[in-house]
Amino acid sequence: MSNLNIETKCVQGGYTPGNGEPRQIPIIQSTTFKYATSSDMGKLFDLEASGYFYSRLQNPTCDTVAAKICELEGGTAAMLTSSGQAASFFAVFNIASAGDHVVSSSSIYGGTYNLFAVTMKRMGIDFTFVSPDCTEEELNAAFRPETKAVFGETIANPALTVLDIEKFAKAAHAHGVPLIIDNTFATPVNCRPFEWGADIVTHSTTKYMDGHGGAVGGCIVDSGKFDWTKYPEKFACLCTPDESYHGVTYTERFGLEGAYITKATAQLMRDLGSIQSPQSAFLLNLGLESLHVRMQRHCENGLAVAKALAADDRISWVTYPGLEGDKYYDLAQKYLPNGTCGVVSFGVKGGRAAAEEFMKHLKIAAIETHVADARSCCLHPASATHRQMNDEELAAAGVSPDLVRFSCGIESAEDLIADIKQALDKVQF
Ligand SMILES: *Cc1c(COP(=O)(O)O)cnc(C)c1O
Repeated sequence: MSNLNIETKCVQGGYTPGNGEPRQIPIIQSTTFKYATSSDMGKLFDLEASGYFYSRLQNPTCDTVAAKICELEGGTAAMLTSSGQAASFFAVFNIASAGDHVVSSSSIYGGTYNLFAVTMKRMGIDFTFVSPDCTEEELNAAFRPETKAVFGETIANPALTVLDIEKFAKAAHAHGVPLIIDNTFATPVNCRPFEWGADIVTHSTTKYMDGHGGAVGGCIVDSGKFDWTKYPEKFACLCTPDESYHGVTYTERFGLEGAYITKATAQLMRDLGSIQSPQSAFLLNLGLESLHVRMQRHCENGLAVAKALAADDRISWVTYPGLEGDKYYDLAQKYLPNGTCGVVSFGVKGGRAAAEEFMKHLKIAAIETHVADARSCCLHPASATHRQMNDEELAAAGVSPDLVRFSCGIESAEDLIADIKQALDKVQF
């Protein structure tokens, strides 16, 4: 399917039924799989044969949907996880352990920030956060001998900064480490980070990919391009025998195209068990079938709402990378020429209190922690997702106290704008 357009891959990727087989992907709701002899099963445990034995590690429905996302991103291997958080954690933990270090953009999802700065730090992994706008010199200065990866978001949630993926890839590769990109907000419909030098992509499939608020999930895709064997000591976990898995050396047995995802499955899924349920994977696949159509509408609505807000004098500022004059407009034109996302950030004049008052009066957009859904929704990050951060950390994450994150759904743009106007009319300025 690699030569087909993204729209066709959204609808048909990952699954080609044979004669008389179901047209829609089957939900294999089974924890376990049957074998005739113990030696048949033994070969699976030794990773000598491929097949299923227990759904904590792999499930056919999940693998079918992972294969579709793999095709969408242009990767060589992929796995689903139970959530976007699990995807971010596995993507980094697969190659970084206690004593190691990771360079991350400071403009990332609040949950990822907590995962890195608090929980993974407790595991002994140190993170240096750099501004996405840093110079090459500042970026290079963040690396240490024990650095194992670089992390960033294509379009950051909720700051809506656009990452200069080529700049980050160049620095990562100059220091012999992979670039991991969270591509949740852009989706592969609008940006494919591998085409710009990224090595691994993660997703919260909970967002646009599912798109209907139906199932929490995540995904990791490997480009197969990062050559771990060039740095056998730094990436000993992939290049030397894994004694916990019958002495398999992942790069030797599975090649560059399969080593990283096989290790994450065989080791991390086995031990941490963050598999997506087959039912959720089925719902995710329904979402993927219309991803290209929905993304187009999300982006049209995002731009229309951003323009209307920019023209309203009760709004102090608007951030939307697809809006001409936005700080990230040029980077968006480069990396996301067909559209960015449906999320618009803005400040209501009068600050925090006015923002909360405005949101209360919205009738179409609901106040939700969620984002990137077919139904419009909004959130005040400073009092919700980012409430653990102090003002300094908020500023580094690109979140001001008056910021409203407005996620345009796929309703009528005219109705969304009218709803925003009537809510602003009710605010006392
Ligand atoms: C929501 C989100 C996550 C976390 O995903 P969950 O599915 O909620 O665990 C990670 N990254 C980004 C950019 C997100 O928006």
